[in-house]
Amino acid sequence: MSKQVLRHDTNCRVCASDKIKTVLKFKDTPLEDQFISKENLDRKQSAYPLELAICEHCGYLHLPHIVNPEESYNDYVYVSGVTVGLRGHYDDYASEIKNEFKIPENSFVVDLGSNDGSMLASFKKIHMRIQGVEPASSIARLANDSGLPTINNFFTESTVEEIIKNQGKADVVTANYMYANIDNVIEFTQNVTKLLSADGIFVVQTGYHPDQFKIKMFDYIYHEHFSYFSVDVIKNIFNKCGLELIHVKKISPKGGSIRVVAQLKGGRRSIDSSVEKILNEESKNQIKSSGYFQKFESELNDIKERLISSLDKLKSEGKKIIALGASHSTTTLLYHFELAKYIDYIVDDNELKHGKYSPGYHIPVYSTEKLYSDKPDYVLVLAWQHQGSIKAKHNRYIESGGHWIIPLPELVVI
Ligand SMILES: [Zn+2]
Repeated sequence: MSKQVLRHDTNCRVCASDKIKTVLKFKDTPLEDQFISKENLDRKQSAYPLELAICEHCGYLHLPHIVNPEESYNDYVYVSGVTVGLRGHYDDYASEIKNEFKIPENSFVVDLGSNDGSMLASFKKIHMRIQGVEPASSIARLANDSGLPTINNFFTESTVEEIIKNQGKADVVTANYMYANIDNVIEFTQNVTKLLSADGIFVVQTGYHPDQFKIKMFDYIYHEHFSYFSVDVIKNIFNKCGLELIHVKKISPKGGSIRVVAQLKGGRRSIDSSVEKILNEESKNQIKSSGYFQKFESELNDIKERLISSLDKLKSEGKKIIALGASHSTTTLLYHFELAKYIDYIVDDNELKHGKYSPGYHIPVYSTEKLYSDKPDYVLVLAWQHQGSIKAKHNRYIESGGHWIIPLPELVVI
């Protein structure tokens, strides 16, 4: 495991104001996706502050405590092509961008944080020229080996210069579920502005906390997500960097997301009504007010209390409880709701996690096959956002007398 360095920002990373206020404070948590192997069990994993703070000047909602981002990327094991259903999502996405924004064939598309190149492959299918940028070396190599050209680097000014020198400016730049993981979002966006052609568009898909909070999805908050964007804040960031927000669409992944589209300021496209509509909705719901966050916090406390009391009761009856789900978000949930002491082990469908131990608590992770050999009485579904597919896939466990405990958005025991 690499050395981890904690940084505490006391000024806003967007506008530099020092009017920063903590609005939600969670339990200290280790890096949420650092599931470790048996050889490393003797090493202590430090827990770091996990707080959500808002800039009272510009409304930027963010983690003020940043843990060494390069190090978390080097250990990155997520491969998007592996996730069922995402390939179809990328094909639809690429076609929608091409049709809605009238992007001609043979245009140049650059995908930032391109992972294994799944999205680039979708743009290639519809006859675009493609280029990926991916900081994780093993994943970049995988993409290059599949014929999806990928620069193995962070998206810096020199990366932009290299792309422009070799291939010219980009007609489409995409950032798919990575914009929230950028430490210096202003510098990053300025680099996008430099890369865009006069008619070019920048398309960002990112989690949308106002919709995620509606379903109490607080566990999307973890150390790799530095920013929690509202449309209001994104519009301001774009504006600061020479871009103009022209379109917003709500999309379903990750419990609630948005797709935003920008062009260079003064570009030929007009700003459509979707932008004003969602800005009005944000303003009406007062998503920057202290009351908004206090209400959310009290809803979470209420659920936590009821969940703990159910688990205490089951334990006192001698029931065996295990958990399902080993990912970033399940670590946040385990820590903040203090669930570790109730759980014998964790199961997950992801083979990369099997034989590993959870961050900090070192709870062992096994294959979901263990549900059938071991037959635990109750399974606490930490990956509750995927409860639909989990219930469908593991219906045999229920038929054999098992029970699900679904913690969120409402506590349900089946
Ligand atoms: Zn600010």
